[in-house]
Amino acid sequence: MEKILEDIIVSNEHLKNRGSLADYIPALGRVDPNKIGISLADIDGNIYRAGDWDHKFTIQSISKVLSLMLAIMDNGEENVFKRVDYEATEEPFNTMFKLDFPQTLKPANPMINAGAIVTTSLIKGEDKFARILDFYRKISGNKDLDYNREVYVSEKKTGDKNRSIAYLMKARGFIEGDVDRILDVYFKQCSIEVNTLDLAKIGLFIADRSDLNTNQIKKLTTAIMASSGMYNFSGKYAVEVGVPSKSGVGGGIVATLPNKMGIGVYSPVLDEYGNSSVGFGIMKDLEKSLTLSIY
Ligand code: GLU
Repeated sequence: MEKILEDIIVSNEHLKNRGSLADYIPALGRVDPNKIGISLADIDGNIYRAGDWDHKFTIQSISKVLSLMLAIMDNGEENVFKRVDYEATEEPFNTMFKLDFPQTLKPANPMINAGAIVTTSLIKGEDKFARILDFYRKISGNKDLDYNREVYVSEKKTGDKNRSIAYLMKARGFIEGDVDRILDVYFKQCSIEVNTLDLAKIGLFIADRSDLNTNQIKKLTTAIMASSGMYNFSGKYAVEVGVPSKSGVGGGIVATLPNKMGIGVYSPVLDEYGNSSVGFGIMKDLEKSLTLSIY
C-alpha cells in the first residue's frame, strides 16, 4: 500500500506548479511549496503513510468540520441549523455576497467562513478555544496538538474580510456576543497545526459509526462535507473523487469514508478555488487505485 501512495505522490508532484500559496495570510505565503504527504488510517487500525506525511501545517478551514460537530453537541441539531443552513453555494469560501440581502436569514452552510463563524460562536464554555483544542487532541489521539502563533497573529492582523463578515452578521442578528472574541477563537482554531496522520485520524473518527450517540452528528457532518467541503468546487469533486472531504487554505484535505477509513493529504499550493492542487490530483488517483467513491 505504501508503494501505491508513493507512486501517487510522484505522479502528481508536477501539479505543485499549478496555483499559488495562500499568501492573503502572509505567514502561509512563506511555507515550503514542495512538501507533499499522505496518510490513511482504516477502521481495522492499519495506518499507511508516504512522503512528508509528518510535516506540520495549519488546519485552516478543515477546523470548520469540528466546530460544526462541537456546536451541535452543545446546542442540538435544530438550534444550530436555525442559524446556519446546509445548502451548497457557488460563492467562494470568504463570500459576504447575499449576507445583507433582506431575505437572507442565515449563512448558506457551515463550510464557508460566514457559516463557520456562526458555529464557532455557538460553541459553549468560558474558554471555547481550550475546548476546541481538547476535542482535536482527543479525536486525533495526539495530545501535543497546538496552534501556530505566527499564523494566528498573521491571520488576525490581516483578517479584515472575516471581520466584515462577522460584524455584518452581528448587525443582522445572525450571531450574538462579542465579535472580536468570537473571531479570536476562529483565527486560533484555523491556526491549529496538524500533520496528515492527524487529519487521517480525524477523518477516521468521523467515519467510525460504532458509537450510536454520535452517529447522527457524523452522518450529517459527512453529508455537509460531501456537498460543501471543497468550496465552490464541491460538485465537480463529488463527480471526480466522490469521497466526502474538506480542504483548508493551509493545503490540507481530510477525507472520510463511512465505516472504512480516514485520509489526510497535504500540499500547500492552491488552485483557484482554494483547494490543494496536488491534493486534488492525489485524491483522484487514490479513488482510482482503491475504488473509494461512495456514489
Ligand atoms: N483561516 C482562513 C480564513 O478564514 C480559512 C479559510 C480556508 O481555509 O478556507 O480565511
